[in-house]
Amino acid sequence: MSAGPTASESVRPVSIAIVGAGPGGFYTAAAVLKSGVEAEIDIIDALPTPFGLIRGGVAPDHQSTKGVWRAFARTAEQPQVRYYGNIKVGRDLSVAELRERYDAVVLATGMPLDRKLAIPGADLAGVYGAAAFVGWYNGHPDFRDLDPDLNTPAVCVIGNGNVAIDVTRVLVKTPAEMAASDLADHAAQAIHAAPIRDVYIIGRRGPAQAKFTNKELGEMGELEDCAALVDPAQLPAAVAGEMSDRDRRQREKNLATLRAFPSAPEPAKHKRVHFVFFAQPAAISGAARCEGLRLERTRLEDDRAVGTGETFEIPCGVVVFAVGYRMDSLDGVPSAGRAGTFESRDGRVADGLYVVGWAKRGPSGVIGTNKGDGDLAAEQIRSDITQGREAGTQGRKAGRAALESLLTERQLRWVSFADWQRIDAAEAAAAPEGAPRRKLVRIADMLAVLDRDAGTVTNT
Ligand code: NAP
Repeated sequence: MSAGPTASESVRPVSIAIVGAGPGGFYTAAAVLKSGVEAEIDIIDALPTPFGLIRGGVAPDHQSTKGVWRAFARTAEQPQVRYYGNIKVGRDLSVAELRERYDAVVLATGMPLDRKLAIPGADLAGVYGAAAFVGWYNGHPDFRDLDPDLNTPAVCVIGNGNVAIDVTRVLVKTPAEMAASDLADHAAQAIHAAPIRDVYIIGRRGPAQAKFTNKELGEMGELEDCAALVDPAQLPAAVAGEMSDRDRRQREKNLATLRAFPSAPEPAKHKRVHFVFFAQPAAISGAARCEGLRLERTRLEDDRAVGTGETFEIPCGVVVFAVGYRMDSLDGVPSAGRAGTFESRDGRVADGLYVVGWAKRGPSGVIGTNKGDGDLAAEQIRSDITQGREAGTQGRKAGRAALESLLTERQLRWVSFADWQRIDAAEAAAAPEGAPRRKLVRIADMLAVLDRDAGTVTNT
């Protein structure tokens, strides 16, 4: 007969640590709360500020998309949930240390690093990955000091996904168009002072294969001082090939949107976005810094881009790669696959260890796609805990109390959700007219808000 839980174990809630306070982490926490499992849920994040890509990735002029933070905040305010910001797993404590202390550990660490292409010149000054570039304009502390040199009339953005289109749009919108955004101050100053006139957005395949969502593509045709240009010769008459009706409709909508873009510059507009299709990056030229992007013309074979050997060059002082992301590894957690996701059986990594979001699936889908991962992880935790308890192999671990003693022993300062709300209030109070906030972009400045308010350091 298995040893069942003792009376004290059966009343102690299941302890769950979620690493990463982005959409994957918050959807998991919400799903656990909904599942009826009596749990204590601790969400740990490297930054003092929660919400992951909602704060640091979603474009600053897409405030309605960012609105999902309100639902996440309601989750964070539930009595079962605590936020431990400013604690980096992998630096301040290890996954193994969390697993010793929690019944379940969920990795929701996303894909924070850039995938750059290994072409000649990719390491030149003036060449950036989108994770760094987007992080920089969104005020992510890790990228505050990127200081991209935007003193150039032309920029090339490589990739035909929504990240490429976000980067392009933020570079060409006017200050008035960005007034209601939370573009970080340092980035607004640099972008709006830059002499950028032409941004080239480059797809290795054709317009029908581009991954832009139609709403984002359509926005390019509605810019105040920038014309979106496309060569009509690159637009096919119809979408060819086998695909689902949904895919065909999406591709047709994008083609229709592109057809409505002009092919020649509009004299009234000072800036231009050029859609360049069927071109794959071959090299970045320049002596000390980026001076141009060499591209090879492609043609499609079974929907794949195949080089033709014909090359051409676009002179530009900046290249941004928006071709996908990479994961940050964590000691003791194996990764696999082309995108380097954590190895798992549909989210189960090992006993009591789970993965959700981009770290599980790779960098695809929209914010809401993470909800399914959270629901599944909550169900897996519920069923594993129940089975473990029945088999007598699963003890209830001390969780939060053990985490706090470890952090205290290591003299690590954590930021609670109430602390974050004070940082949030300070940012909102400093907002320029019409903007939601003025972002604090250095961790020391965020912590200084708490010290100034409290007079002392508080950790609760
Ligand atoms: P993505 O949609 O996968 O696009 C990546 C782009 O990079 C594709 O056009 C891809 O071309 C291209 N690429 C990859 N390898 C390349 C290479 N070696 N040479 C040239 N081009 C290459 O990824 P993303 O833009 O990083 O976005 C990530 C996810 O976040 C997506 O699901 C996206 O929709 C989502 N997102 C959504 C929004 C929004 O809803 N507003 C905003 C930002 C991001 P191929 O297609 O030929 O591989």
